[in-house]
Amino acid sequence: MAKLYFNYGAMSAGKTIDVITTAYKYNSRGMKAILIKPALDTKGNNKVTSRIGIEKEVDILLKPEESLIDYLKMYDNITCLVIDESQFLTEKQVCELVIITKILDIPVVCFGLKVDFKGNLFPGSAALIRYADSLKEMVAICDCGKKARFNARKINGEYVYDGGQVYIGEDESYDPMCETCFLEKVLLPNSLDFQKIYKKIKEN
Ligand SMILES: [Zn+2]
Repeated sequence: MAKLYFNYGAMSAGKTIDVITTAYKYNSRGMKAILIKPALDTKGNNKVTSRIGIEKEVDILLKPEESLIDYLKMYDNITCLVIDESQFLTEKQVCELVIITKILDIPVVCFGLKVDFKGNLFPGSAALIRYADSLKEMVAICDCGKKARFNARKINGEYVYDGGQVYIGEDESYDPMCETCFLEKVLLPNSLDFQKIYKKIKEN
Protein backbone atom coordinates (compact mmCIF):
# COMPACT_ATOMS: atom_id res chain seq x y z
CA MET A 1 0.00 0.00 0.00
CA ALA A 2 1.26 3.48 -0.86
CA LYS A 3 2.69 5.64 1.90
CA LEU A 4 2.13 9.19 3.05
CA TYR A 5 5.46 10.87 3.81
CA PHE A 6 6.00 14.09 5.75
CA ASN A 7 9.49 15.59 5.50
CA TYR A 8 9.56 18.59 7.78
CA GLY A 9 12.11 21.13 8.84
CA ALA A 10 12.67 24.77 9.73
CA MET A 11 13.27 27.47 7.12
CA SER A 12 16.43 26.94 5.05
CA ALA A 13 16.47 23.17 5.59
CA GLY A 14 16.51 22.67 1.82
CA LYS A 15 12.93 21.47 1.55
CA THR A 16 12.06 23.11 -1.77
CA ILE A 17 15.23 21.82 -3.45
CA ASP A 18 14.17 18.33 -2.39
CA VAL A 19 10.64 18.97 -3.70
CA ILE A 20 12.05 19.88 -7.11
CA THR A 21 14.56 17.00 -7.25
CA THR A 22 11.96 14.45 -6.06
CA ALA A 23 9.59 15.48 -8.88
CA TYR A 24 12.51 15.51 -11.35
CA LYS A 25 13.66 11.98 -10.44
CA TYR A 26 10.27 10.57 -11.40
CA ASN A 27 9.54 12.77 -14.43
CA SER A 28 13.00 12.30 -15.99
CA ARG A 29 12.35 8.54 -16.07
CA GLY A 30 9.03 8.85 -17.85
CA MET A 31 6.89 8.61 -14.72
CA LYS A 32 4.39 11.21 -13.67
CA ALA A 33 4.93 13.10 -10.41
CA ILE A 34 2.32 15.80 -9.87
CA LEU A 35 3.73 18.89 -8.16
CA ILE A 36 1.31 20.62 -5.80
CA LYS A 37 1.39 23.73 -3.64
CA PRO A 38 -1.33 25.11 -1.36
CA ALA A 39 -2.47 28.51 -2.68
CA LEU A 40 -2.21 30.12 0.76
CA ASP A 41 1.49 30.53 0.11
CA THR A 42 1.64 33.58 -2.12
CA LYS A 43 5.43 33.54 -2.49
CA GLY A 44 6.22 32.82 -6.13
CA ASN A 45 2.54 32.25 -6.99
CA ASN A 46 2.28 29.12 -9.15
CA LYS A 47 5.94 28.23 -8.70
CA VAL A 48 7.94 26.53 -5.99
CA THR A 49 11.02 28.64 -5.37
CA SER A 50 14.04 27.65 -3.32
CA ARG A 51 16.28 30.14 -1.57
CA ILE A 52 19.23 29.16 -3.72
CA GLY A 53 17.34 30.30 -6.82
CA ILE A 54 15.98 27.09 -8.36
CA GLU A 55 12.29 27.20 -9.24
CA LYS A 56 9.67 25.07 -10.94
CA GLU A 57 6.08 25.65 -11.98
CA VAL A 58 3.51 23.61 -10.06
CA ASP A 59 0.86 21.39 -11.68
CA ILE A 60 -1.80 22.19 -9.09
CA LEU A 61 -2.16 25.34 -7.01
CA LEU A 62 -4.57 24.09 -4.35
CA LYS A 63 -6.88 26.58 -2.62
CA PRO A 64 -8.03 25.86 0.96
CA GLU A 65 -11.62 25.17 -0.11
CA GLU A 66 -10.64 22.89 -3.00
CA SER A 67 -10.54 19.10 -3.17
CA LEU A 68 -7.35 17.47 -4.38
CA ILE A 69 -9.30 14.37 -5.41
CA ASP A 70 -11.34 16.53 -7.84
CA TYR A 71 -8.10 17.71 -9.47
CA LEU A 72 -6.67 14.19 -9.76
CA LYS A 73 -9.58 13.16 -12.01
CA MET A 74 -7.88 15.28 -14.72
CA TYR A 75 -4.77 13.05 -14.78
CA ASP A 76 -4.02 9.47 -15.87
CA ASN A 77 -1.31 7.15 -14.59
CA ILE A 78 -0.05 9.25 -11.69
CA THR A 79 3.13 7.84 -10.14
CA CYS A 80 3.14 10.05 -7.07
CA LEU A 81 2.19 13.43 -5.63
CA VAL A 82 4.82 15.84 -4.34
CA ILE A 83 3.56 18.70 -2.14
CA ASP A 84 5.55 21.78 -1.12
CA GLU A 85 4.59 24.11 1.77
CA SER A 86 2.29 21.37 3.05
CA GLN A 87 1.91 23.13 6.41
CA PHE A 88 -0.72 25.20 4.57
CA LEU A 89 -2.92 22.20 3.68
CA THR A 90 -6.23 22.10 5.53
CA GLU A 91 -6.96 19.16 7.81
CA LYS A 92 -9.59 18.00 5.29
CA GLN A 93 -7.02 18.02 2.50
CA VAL A 94 -4.68 15.89 4.64
CA CYS A 95 -7.59 13.47 5.13
CA GLU A 96 -7.82 13.30 1.32
CA LEU A 97 -4.12 12.35 1.25
CA VAL A 98 -4.89 9.41 3.54
CA ILE A 99 -7.56 8.22 1.05
CA ILE A 100 -5.26 8.88 -1.93
CA THR A 101 -2.46 6.73 -0.42
CA LYS A 102 -4.54 3.99 1.17
CA ILE A 103 -7.43 3.58 -1.31
CA LEU A 104 -6.11 4.95 -4.62
CA ASP A 105 -2.63 3.54 -3.78
CA ILE A 106 -0.73 6.66 -4.94
CA PRO A 107 2.29 7.66 -2.80
CA VAL A 108 2.29 11.24 -1.49
CA VAL A 109 5.49 13.01 -0.45
CA CYS A 110 4.87 16.18 1.59
CA PHE A 111 7.45 18.79 2.52
CA GLY A 112 6.81 21.65 4.92
CA LEU A 113 7.38 23.49 8.13
CA LYS A 114 6.42 21.83 11.38
CA VAL A 115 5.95 24.94 13.52
CA ASP A 116 5.13 28.61 13.02
CA PHE A 117 7.08 31.62 14.37
CA LYS A 118 5.64 31.07 17.87
CA GLY A 119 6.59 27.42 17.91
CA ASN A 120 2.98 26.23 17.38
CA LEU A 121 2.10 23.49 14.91
CA PHE A 122 0.49 24.55 11.64
CA PRO A 123 -2.89 22.80 11.12
CA GLY A 124 -1.58 20.98 8.03
CA SER A 125 1.54 19.83 9.87
CA ALA A 126 -0.44 18.67 12.91
CA ALA A 127 -2.67 16.54 10.67
CA LEU A 128 0.33 15.18 8.76
CA ILE A 129 2.12 14.24 11.98
CA ARG A 130 -1.03 12.31 12.97
CA TYR A 131 -1.55 10.51 9.68
CA ALA A 132 1.82 10.18 7.91
CA ASP A 133 3.34 6.69 7.59
CA SER A 134 6.81 8.24 7.56
CA LEU A 135 8.10 11.34 9.35
CA LYS A 136 11.55 12.67 8.53
CA GLU A 137 13.19 15.75 9.97
CA MET A 138 15.30 17.85 7.61
CA VAL A 139 18.05 19.81 9.29
CA ALA A 140 18.47 23.58 9.25
CA ILE A 141 21.28 25.24 11.18
CA CYS A 142 20.98 27.96 13.84
CA ASP A 143 23.47 30.86 13.95
CA CYS A 144 25.08 29.17 16.99
CA GLY A 145 25.75 26.02 14.93
CA LYS A 146 23.13 23.78 16.58
CA LYS A 147 20.24 22.08 14.81
CA ALA A 148 17.40 24.57 14.20
CA ARG A 149 13.82 23.48 14.84
CA PHE A 150 12.16 26.90 15.15
CA ASN A 151 11.51 29.78 12.73
CA ALA A 152 11.91 33.15 14.43
CA ARG A 153 10.02 35.94 12.65
CA LYS A 154 11.82 39.22 12.22
CA ILE A 155 10.13 42.45 11.21
CA ASN A 156 12.43 45.35 10.40
CA GLY A 157 15.27 43.50 12.08
CA GLU A 158 13.45 42.79 15.39
CA TYR A 159 12.20 39.39 16.57
CA VAL A 160 8.43 39.43 17.08
CA TYR A 161 6.03 37.15 18.90
CA ASP A 162 2.66 38.79 18.05
CA GLY A 163 0.81 38.37 14.79
CA GLY A 164 -0.96 35.84 12.60
CA GLN A 165 0.39 32.45 11.64
CA VAL A 166 0.70 33.61 8.04
CA TYR A 167 2.27 37.02 7.61
CA ILE A 168 1.63 38.75 4.34
CA GLY A 169 4.13 41.53 3.93
CA GLU A 170 7.43 42.42 2.40
CA ASP A 171 9.28 43.52 5.52
CA GLU A 172 9.45 40.18 7.33
CA SER A 173 12.14 37.51 7.34
CA TYR A 174 12.74 34.32 9.28
CA ASP A 175 15.77 32.91 11.09
CA PRO A 176 16.04 29.17 11.70
CA MET A 177 16.80 28.74 15.43
CA CYS A 178 17.69 26.04 17.94
CA GLU A 179 15.65 25.59 21.15
CA THR A 180 18.11 27.55 23.34
CA CYS A 181 18.39 30.58 21.04
CA PHE A 182 14.60 30.61 20.47
CA LEU A 183 14.07 30.63 24.24
CA GLU A 184 16.61 33.42 24.81
CA LYS A 185 15.86 35.64 21.82
CA VAL A 186 12.11 35.15 21.27
CA LEU A 187 10.25 33.44 24.12
CA LEU A 188 11.81 35.05 27.21
CA PRO A 189 11.66 38.64 25.87
CA ASN A 190 8.06 38.22 24.64
CA SER A 191 6.09 35.50 26.41
CA LEU A 192 4.64 36.20 29.87
CA ASP A 193 4.27 32.48 30.53
CA PHE A 194 7.95 31.86 29.91
CA GLN A 195 8.92 34.97 31.91
CA LYS A 196 6.92 33.75 34.94
CA ILE A 197 8.55 30.32 34.92
CA TYR A 198 12.00 31.87 34.44
CA LYS A 199 11.43 34.24 37.40
CA LYS A 200 10.35 31.35 39.62
CA ILE A 201 13.52 29.42 38.78
CA LYS A 202 15.74 32.48 39.42
CA GLU A 203 14.09 33.19 42.81
CA ASN A 204 14.81 29.65 44.09
ZN1 LIG B 1 21.13 28.42 18.49
